[in-house]
Amino acid sequence: MSAFEGFHCTDCGATTDDDGATRCPDCGGSLDARYDLDGLKLSSETLAERSGGWKHRELLPFVPSGMGEGETPLIEAPRLADELGVGRVLIKNEAHNPTSSITDRGLSLVAEAAVRADADTLALPTTGDGGQSASAYAARAGLLSRSFVPSRTPFMSKAMINVHGGDMRVVEGRFDDARAVYEEERESMPAAERETWFPAAPFDSPFRHEGTKPIYYEIAEQLGWAAPDAIVAPVGHGATIAGLWKGAREFESAGIVDDTPELHAAQPDGCAPVIEALETGGDPQPWEVPDTVVGSLEIPDPSGGLAATQAIRASGGAGVAVDDQDLLDSAVTVAQHEGLEISVACGTATAGAWELAENGAFDDDETVVLLNTAAGSKDADIVRSRLMSRGI
Ligand SMILES: [Zn+2]
Repeated sequence: MSAFEGFHCTDCGATTDDDGATRCPDCGGSLDARYDLDGLKLSSETLAERSGGWKHRELLPFVPSGMGEGETPLIEAPRLADELGVGRVLIKNEAHNPTSSITDRGLSLVAEAAVRADADTLALPTTGDGGQSASAYAARAGLLSRSFVPSRTPFMSKAMINVHGGDMRVVEGRFDDARAVYEEERESMPAAERETWFPAAPFDSPFRHEGTKPIYYEIAEQLGWAAPDAIVAPVGHGATIAGLWKGAREFESAGIVDDTPELHAAQPDGCAPVIEALETGGDPQPWEVPDTVVGSLEIPDPSGGLAATQAIRASGGAGVAVDDQDLLDSAVTVAQHEGLEISVACGTATAGAWELAENGAFDDDETVVLLNTAAGSKDADIVRSRLMSRGI
């Protein structure tokens, strides 16, 4: 049985047990799922006997039907470990999800919540991967989807949104322009029609970040029910790192794993509001002029920026901002030294890990996990452009 107790507003503390909830009914703040961790009876032995990406059902508000998301491999990267001067480097490869990205996990829960809430449309502003996932899971659940994407969104995501039968609005500009058009359209709808929309962007409901927790549960199991010393993750909206930290605290609290990892955040230096907050000690402020080749991380005013910043601080981790050319070179290095195809977002985490290693953040016997968010082939054009600029 689930230990789910209800959703708690992170702004005003109000609670609701409506499992189709989106935002706080009292103040409109972000909701977060709460569990009775003291009463939770869950062991590694029990979990080891189960299979499936949603097998940690005690720690979910409900289990979505899904289409095979999760249970992604954790792949050894021995040459990277040598280069970084650490014991082990492993890459958690989220490219093995149904639409080849990490966003499938959260959107699977969102689609299930939308059905329970009698909504008929998943609607979101998105840099691409989230829209592709939303259109896929909407199709699966018999729902419609409306994705608002900036013009720079890669062709493959735009194409697959269409292939899944999703409605797509391409907005000239960047992510915040797409978000503004989404909000304008939503606010101008008659109230009855607005209720048919289920907001599917990170932190517009409690389900996107909740859906990323199993990534941590799986990493711990793949390491023999132990926390890695460190996880380096790219940060855009902040949902992934917030989910990783939540999962880590839950497993520690349940006694399944003895401790928690340091979570390190990497962002491109052309859009690094979370890193800036970590360095200055304040809360994230909107980034004035976002400019990076990594479209999925070009989120100047992230909805989960504060949650991500708090998670990194609480874990004892650090933030690192990396140059666009370095992160592209890192994606090439991983492809050539390890054979693994990683997203440019993971190139950001990899370049960040290099810088952290140079700054002495890791001991030479430590286990470091890098999070690959999506199939490297989604970013083939920009990585290849970098090769050509180097005359290769
Ligand atoms: Zn509230």
